[in-house]
Amino acid sequence: MPVRTVVWGENIHEQTNEDVRALYPEGMHGAIAAALAEDGNIQVSVATLQDAEHGLSEERLAATDVLTWWGHRAHGDVSDEVVARVQRRVWEGMGLIVLHSGHYSKIFRLLMGTPCSLKWREAGERERLWVVNRGHPIARGLGDYVELPNTEMYGEPFAVPEPMETVFISWYEGGEVFRSGMTFQRGAGRIFYLSPGHETYPIYHNPEMQQILRNAVNWAYNPMPGWSSITQAPNVPIEQAREKLVQKGARLHADGEEGFR
Ligand code: ZN
Repeated sequence: MPVRTVVWGENIHEQTNEDVRALYPEGMHGAIAAALAEDGNIQVSVATLQDAEHGLSEERLAATDVLTWWGHRAHGDVSDEVVARVQRRVWEGMGLIVLHSGHYSKIFRLLMGTPCSLKWREAGERERLWVVNRGHPIARGLGDYVELPNTEMYGEPFAVPEPMETVFISWYEGGEVFRSGMTFQRGAGRIFYLSPGHETYPIYHNPEMQQILRNAVNWAYNPMPGWSSITQAPNVPIEQAREKLVQKGARLHADGEEGFR
């Protein structure tokens, strides 16, 4: 079964900035999708902010195994309804790869529950991503580190929850460091945050970055059927208990009552 992957792009800088358009004539989402399509196990399509429902209808998300997310200047234009829909699909088991400035996207902040703030500087400085978890599938095929000649600095402290795993730690020419590749899990869904990806540098044309993206999609794929009941909170009647129970003490709720949310 191929990993059905949707590459979501905000698609604004590519339309409004000459430098970005020159680097990514097919859009950043186009470059990311092309990199993923080199993996025969990944079935890729794209969606953008401008599409109806941002290209993320209930039907399409239900048929998506992994979603990648790049946004920057229009996080606020993403509808809360679509964000809630994506959150629910992550809980059910859809993988989510959040890229670069997506740290401030509604969906990432919602899933993290923290400010997701960080330091930054746009100086075109060198970045070295050290592979600190050498046995991790997201690091497959990489050496000790990946070096990017020009990058935007993202520096610690990065206000996210303690991750499940740290795969990469970046060093920057200016001296800062950053946890540039981290994994999380929410419900049944695996989440990977990858920091390089500033729009004025050819980050997504870098073969090693492309390898990381393919690795991340394969890692985030959960082959289990979606956990569709994950938001249900059933009130189990006493007589349906697996062992015989006798009511003790006072009760607030009646049998079968839904309870409060
Ligand atoms: Zn940036």
